[in-house]
Amino acid sequence: MGAAEPFLGYSTSNSATEDGWEKQFRDAISPDAIRENMRRLSARPHHVGSPYDQDNAEWLLAQFKSWGYDAKIETFDVLFPTPKVRVLEMLQPTVFHATLKEPVVASDPTSGQTEEQLPTYNAYSADGDVTAPLVYVNYGSREDYEELDRLGISVKGAIVIARYGQSWRGIKPKVAAEHGAIGCIIYSDPSGDGYLKGDSYPAGGWRPGGGVQRGSVMDTDYPGDPLTPGVGATPGAKRLALKDAKTITKIPVLPISYTDALPLLSALTGPVAPEAWRGALPITYHVGPGPAKVHLAVASNWDIKPIYDVIATLKGAVAADQWVIRGNHHDAWVNGAEDPISGQAAMLEEARVMGQLHRRGWVPARTIIYCAWDGEEPGLLGSVEWVETHLAELQKHAIAYVNSDGNDRGYLAAGGTQDLQNFVSGVAREVQDPETKLSVFARSHLVAIARAKDADERADLRKRSDLSLEALGDGSDFTAFQDYAGISTLDLSFADEEDGDQYHSIYDDFYWYTHFVDTDFAYGRALSQTAGTAIMRLADADLMPVDYAPQAEAIAKYESELEKLLKDKQDEFTERNLELKEGVFVATNDPRRPLLPPPAEIVPPYINFAPMKNAIDLLSKSSERFSAALAGYKAKGSPALPAASLATVNADLLKVSRLFLNQRGLPERPWFKNQIYAPGAYTGYGAKPIAAVREYMDQKKWHEAEGQVPQVSQVIEAAAAGIDKAAADFERAMGNGS
Ligand SMILES: [Zn+2]
Repeated sequence: MGAAEPFLGYSTSNSATEDGWEKQFRDAISPDAIRENMRRLSARPHHVGSPYDQDNAEWLLAQFKSWGYDAKIETFDVLFPTPKVRVLEMLQPTVFHATLKEPVVASDPTSGQTEEQLPTYNAYSADGDVTAPLVYVNYGSREDYEELDRLGISVKGAIVIARYGQSWRGIKPKVAAEHGAIGCIIYSDPSGDGYLKGDSYPAGGWRPGGGVQRGSVMDTDYPGDPLTPGVGATPGAKRLALKDAKTITKIPVLPISYTDALPLLSALTGPVAPEAWRGALPITYHVGPGPAKVHLAVASNWDIKPIYDVIATLKGAVAADQWVIRGNHHDAWVNGAEDPISGQAAMLEEARVMGQLHRRGWVPARTIIYCAWDGEEPGLLGSVEWVETHLAELQKHAIAYVNSDGNDRGYLAAGGTQDLQNFVSGVAREVQDPETKLSVFARSHLVAIARAKDADERADLRKRSDLSLEALGDGSDFTAFQDYAGISTLDLSFADEEDGDQYHSIYDDFYWYTHFVDTDFAYGRALSQTAGTAIMRLADADLMPVDYAPQAEAIAKYESELEKLLKDKQDEFTERNLELKEGVFVATNDPRRPLLPPPAEIVPPYINFAPMKNAIDLLSKSSERFSAALAGYKAKGSPALPAASLATVNADLLKVSRLFLNQRGLPERPWFKNQIYAPGAYTGYGAKPIAAVREYMDQKKWHEAEGQVPQVSQVIEAAAAGIDKAAADFERAMGNGS
């Protein structure tokens, strides 16, 4: 590797210097230090409002200070409900009281810290006390309810039981309430993360019968403190009344283990569940409704609690007003060794080693800001409130945000805005995979080929010299940076080879992690090396190390997916209407297992995507122009450029990712400003690119979807113009401009 080929954004001489510092950095990362960070931070339960949450924040602060950072704690006051009442019992046909408790495991020393553990619950569930027949709704997605309609089953007035998985947990009570359900139970089926995957804890690493997934069920309108949308939850902030907070669920919700779910599911009769709905419990899955009749009562203490963001700054020497931001949360549902401490412990080790290099004379050109967020688990509270509070400064100064959360072992998984795709691919070439000794780039690239769905995709991958960055939606602390503030974003982790899952359970602790996940912290080290190399390189590059060609390509793909979706829906509904007319559903209906025909659908009209395609054409041209300028610079031997012209180009580049924002936001979720990258309102976590259009298409509101095309096109045109300006100034800086 070395500096023969200068790094993206670097002059040849700076690249060589950088290469030397980076090697020192990667060599100094210690797996044992990461292990000790984890031991300390996950020693006790440390959810929002707990003594150990604050204790950890103060310890983190002291660490950063001891390494030479200018560090402080920023506190916000947020709505954080904790359980007051939790009752789940079956009244008919037999009586059963759910335990709602995760059993202590004798060999696991922290699983017995019951005094400090948050009970199993879903935060931001509405208070409620309901009794009703039970209906099994599979994952509780909108498609699952269409299936229920065909079975002739309504959930109106019922309590639904859904399994974890597929859609984000907060979508389950939301969709249930939209269909008239009055309560929602979510359980962990052993097919998802239990014995179907491998041996149960503590013999193996997989979720045992009594394991429960806690988690937030906040609605998808906006993340962060439910009482202060769009502003920081500072002491004087104007707060909504609790009754006006839009993101609290409409119906009570409670998570349970499969040990608690088994008697409930066993007591259901009615139709046998469709094949895809069956889990791994030793029963025949029925849908209901009833005869199981259950009583569900949930109430919370609706308290305002302080959260503690630890913010640590290493000031830049050349361009101190350009910020490179790195973050990982520190709060957990319980001990949280994997989520989030595996990421936090690795991030801390990066910061320690950078502090060490700093003492030896390395000074970043740009300012580096390390952020240990609090309150991520309930709803990204720490990062959202911080970004809302500092929005104007961030939009002026931030060049990129690099996030991590949990880390396991296996392949580098990278998501983010594709202006950083070439950059992160270059970083991944420098880091060695601890097992195969290949670069983490090579491993991720080759596994993508192994997993490709067809020959076309394989051929396409073989042509590529970069890793493709998956678009991000929400689900971790990058959300406010990307979706709200328009800051280029990366999210990094190693995953897919872990030997277990205890997500949001008391068993996600040091004992479990060090027995079943990254037992020697080799991948913790790889995460530190990857994210730290990215931070150093972002901080030191002469030019912001962006390249827009992969982003233009990704946006063109998102647009073509919209066209394909429309075509697929036109075909699907045309075919369905024809089959209804032909009597296909009558002919294939088994009267002993009756299935109603699906409803006739209006075939979607054509949508005019031309303005968006024209805008994407402009974006591609500007991106190509900028990439050509980069290639021209390289061809000239990447000489050092005059400081003033560099500053002009960097100022141009810093603005580009902001241009994807529209201040009105998404039509039905105005907090989300980014017109390219956003989560879906009914999927959660995963991205729904070009959500303004896509969300309406998913709701079959075709005219509304078409109505969004012009404003998305304008945003893309603005970005194209911004890139064009950067390219022109770059050409001028190299002395061959117009
Ligand atoms: Zn997390």
